[in-house]
Amino acid sequence: MTTMTTSPFAASFTQNDAARTAEQREAILADPGFGNHFTDHMFLAEWTPDTGWADGRVVPYGPLLIDPATAVLHYAQEIFEGLKAYVHADGSAWLFRPDANAARLQRSAQRLALPELPTDWFLGSIRSLVEADRAWIPAGGEKSLYLRPFMFASEVFLGVRPSQHVTYSVIASPAGAYFSGGVQAVSIWLSSEYSRAGAGGTGAAKCGGNYAASLLPQQEAAAHGCAQVVFLDSTEHMWIEELGGMNLFFVQSDGSIVTPALSGSILEGITRDSILQIGRDLGHEVVERRVSIDEWRQGAADGTISEVFACGTAAVVTPVASLRWDGGEAVTGDGEPGKVTTDIRSALVDVQYGRADDRHGWLTRIG
Ligand SMILES: *Cc1c(COP(=O)(O)O)cnc(C)c1O
Repeated sequence: MTTMTTSPFAASFTQNDAARTAEQREAILADPGFGNHFTDHMFLAEWTPDTGWADGRVVPYGPLLIDPATAVLHYAQEIFEGLKAYVHADGSAWLFRPDANAARLQRSAQRLALPELPTDWFLGSIRSLVEADRAWIPAGGEKSLYLRPFMFASEVFLGVRPSQHVTYSVIASPAGAYFSGGVQAVSIWLSSEYSRAGAGGTGAAKCGGNYAASLLPQQEAAAHGCAQVVFLDSTEHMWIEELGGMNLFFVQSDGSIVTPALSGSILEGITRDSILQIGRDLGHEVVERRVSIDEWRQGAADGTISEVFACGTAAVVTPVASLRWDGGEAVTGDGEPGKVTTDIRSALVDVQYGRADDRHGWLTRIG
């Protein structure tokens, strides 16, 4: 879709007169949890075929007025991103690979027949929101400000075609350390009945609909005492794809690190891509290839798979202790977080928080 008429990024600013006091903010930042609290402002812009992207603005955070016939409520034409702002020890604020999020939002937009948001608009929207709510980036520990850019069909129209009115927004939510009591290994449920995405579907796009499809199997996982679901390919029900919102890695006993190759129905995680590089930096052989569910089961049993972990922006790296299915369980190693998993996690977090050299130019300063 063309965005020929879109102007270079610009944003107006309207101060929130009902902004929380410094005291109220500090109380929230002391223990923010995840996704519970939102900053005082948000970014908004709209697109139409005539104007392109226009009317960029930072405004007080608050409800959107949505007509009941708004297309997204009916046909789920919606995409989103997730990235974090980090405060370093010297007080400076940074983003991790935001250009990769901008590019992925463009790929998601293509697949969902939404207009592409130019990279200068993506980076500008985040910059202007973080500037307004700079005080909301929590410092210390593994805290961060989680940024949620999203785009949806806002045309009031029930016909089925790509929306001719689209809204883009960014909201921000302070996030605590994902593992408040130290990194914990989780169990994963193997969904035998459901797939997350199919061949030719929207699995490679970051869209809300994929998450909607993962909720029922996620409930099933919880009922079996598991934190997450692992999905297999929808055709052969044999090849490991990913979790509902995280990619998977396997550490083999020879020290190599394996992740399922992108299949068209796997979401290309920026954490996944960064870990492929960090694995190489740490001297591991890294391999992207197909991994079958039997390889996981047998590898856990005979020790050829020594560690398993999941990764994504929110939790960074989550060790996986075991795979459970109807009638069985395969435990990896001794069920505790493994050394390679822990080393990779530390190497990544150290770059994000400015404690290690940013040798790949992944950080962008924002304040
Ligand atoms: C966002 C997401 C991931 C992880 O991507 P990151 O860029 O690493 O945060 C993995 N799988 C799915 C389905 C996702 O939506």
